[in-house]
Amino acid sequence: MILVTGGTGYIGAQVVLQLLGHGQTVVILDNLCNSSRTSLERIARLGGRRARFVLGDVRNRAQLDALFADFPITAVIHCAGLKAVGESVREPLRYYDSNVGGSITLCQAMAAAGVFTLIFSSSATVYGDSPRMPIDERCATGLPTNPYGFSKLMAENVMTSLAASDARWSVGLLRYFNPIGAHDSGELGEAPAQIPNNLLPYLLQVASGQRDVLHVYGNDYATVDGTGVRDYVHVMDLAEGHWLALQALMGGSGVQVWNLGTGQGYSVLQVVDAFTRTCGVSVPLVFEPRRAGDVAQCWADPDKARRELGWQARRTLDDMLRDAWRWECRLAAQHRPILYTPRITPVAVAQAASELAAV
Ligand code: NAD
Ligand code: UDP
Repeated sequence: MILVTGGTGYIGAQVVLQLLGHGQTVVILDNLCNSSRTSLERIARLGGRRARFVLGDVRNRAQLDALFADFPITAVIHCAGLKAVGESVREPLRYYDSNVGGSITLCQAMAAAGVFTLIFSSSATVYGDSPRMPIDERCATGLPTNPYGFSKLMAENVMTSLAASDARWSVGLLRYFNPIGAHDSGELGEAPAQIPNNLLPYLLQVASGQRDVLHVYGNDYATVDGTGVRDYVHVMDLAEGHWLALQALMGGSGVQVWNLGTGQGYSVLQVVDAFTRTCGVSVPLVFEPRRAGDVAQCWADPDKARRELGWQARRTLDDMLRDAWRWECRLAAQHRPILYTPRITPVAVAQAASELAAV
């Protein structure tokens, strides 16, 4: 049985689905601070089977000990954590407590239970403002520009030291580039509780009429059109990477680092254009000064994951945007009918409504 911490969250839920699809049994530990039990129903519907769920916190050692005693867990995928960059600047202690403290407590509980296989949700943010592009795993980790980034790097360092101290540990650090998109059924995706910080959730809320305009942070970078360039990767491709990484780690030893990205960068304007073309919805935008702490560009060299895991992102930017939009329309039809504006086409609403009726 695999323990997925943060398994009701955006990425964790897709990872759980992957594992169920490969016949694994799964237990989720989540404190629901940024997700809800609705994910469990969606996972069960899409996966055809339920994951077990325990409401709990990765910082709570007693809860973790009980969890390892109650379930025959052989490996852990650790997705739980806080991820809002701006919030991490305002509340750094909360971020270090959850992301670093929580990881340490989890590792302690794993060791006590004799479970030594661990995958960690890390981030390309640990590379800082890399002078080398594309970024491969040999690039030095840089200086993150905010407490969130530091917390990811610190957690990586904790796990690396741990694996160096005891050969029983087999740890995979998965450095995600920019995960976007939703399940290709349109039934499982990101549902931000707060004002989104990331490009795509914000863009989707503009497109669905919940927000007026997309603020584009910076149009004077040395990039193709002056706007920031990122490596967007479909969340289902990302989830497949976890399954392959898990198999590579089982029975192994030490720390492995894998970039999960497509190897292709897109600017903000290219994403907006692709969205309008693919989904048929216009997105009003306004240029703003650069956002503090942003790098101009960041994209992966994903070759190590291809060679060592046989993993390659298969889905295109258009796929990511189409799936994300299908999910957004579903959310809009379900929760926010009052907020429709002409930017959501009647066709999109009708389609979402008929999909809902079919569930
Ligand atoms: P998310 O907020 O949707 O999911 C995280 C889940 O962890 C939530 O369900 C939340 O309730 C839970 N959680 C938070 N703190 C917890 C705690 N102390 N104990 C138990 N549960 C807790 O975020 P996500 O986008 O799915 O991200 C998953 C992981 O991937 C995070 O660690 C994040 O830092 C990392 N990551 C995300 C991105 C991204 O762009 N989404 C990029 C790089 C890395
Ligand atoms: N971005 C933007 N408007 C937004 C959110 C993001 O212009 O509302 C830009 C941001 O400056 C960056 C890119 O979109 O160039 C991706 O930002 P995101 O926060 O999604 O990812 P990250 O910067 O963490 O890689």
